[in-house]
Amino acid sequence: MPRPIFDGSYHAGSAFDGAEALPILERLLAPTTPRSTKLAKEVVAFYGEDFLLSVRQYFGPCDFQVYYAPPDKVHIQLNLQTCKDPSTVVHELLHGDLIRQGFPWLAYREGEANNEHIRVMNFLHHAIMLPQFQKFGFTRDQFLTPSKPNQPDSYRAFFEPDSNRPHWPLEWLSGWLEDQFLGNSRHTDYMQKYWSDFQEVAPSIDRISDDVKAWFSRPDYIHPDNFEQAYNELVTLIEVPIPSPDRWYRLKREDGRLIRY
Ligand SMILES: [Zn+2]
Repeated sequence: MPRPIFDGSYHAGSAFDGAEALPILERLLAPTTPRSTKLAKEVVAFYGEDFLLSVRQYFGPCDFQVYYAPPDKVHIQLNLQTCKDPSTVVHELLHGDLIRQGFPWLAYREGEANNEHIRVMNFLHHAIMLPQFQKFGFTRDQFLTPSKPNQPDSYRAFFEPDSNRPHWPLEWLSGWLEDQFLGNSRHTDYMQKYWSDFQEVAPSIDRISDDVKAWFSRPDYIHPDNFEQAYNELVTLIEVPIPSPDRWYRLKREDGRLIRY
């Protein structure tokens, strides 16, 4: 039975464990082709009881989390206000499908740059997923909910000495990649406008941006066996420490059980 969600912040909704999630996903995917229903079946069957779908009616994120929140579930969260379009559901399922295809994932580790690591992982998932997503008949502008380039004043405030500074190369990568995925230049144009400020706070940004573009022109990371090494090269380019090697793991289903190895 679905469990009601009420987390104290009025994000009311329902949580569906394992196979319970399938009819909900099928209903959301009904306007699309059988290909997306097949994807939902495969993903739900792969994760089995470790799969959790939570659906909220009004608020909350749309995302994919791996053994993080909660720590014993692979969790797709959907906010039906913003993510009722089947393309969003397919997007989140494709994240789950990459691990099913053998791509490794990183365990959370206290004291490591988890936030940066998972952001980079998410970017790479997206880079691999986009051509798959388009095979479902969706267009690239349906792939992501575009994040707003910051308003001029608030963006400028990032560069003030006492502001809570982001990791610049990662911010650049995030904006540049989103433009690549969506086929526009909103972020790139914006960042170009402030490029001299960028150079001031991140003196290596010119070299980094060239190296990262070159990295993405090689397809190494698209294969599960090369992914870890390619990932480490990319985080090194953007000056994020590489994750400890023992954080990497894969999942496979063997004798009816989900195995971490
Ligand atoms: Zn995503």
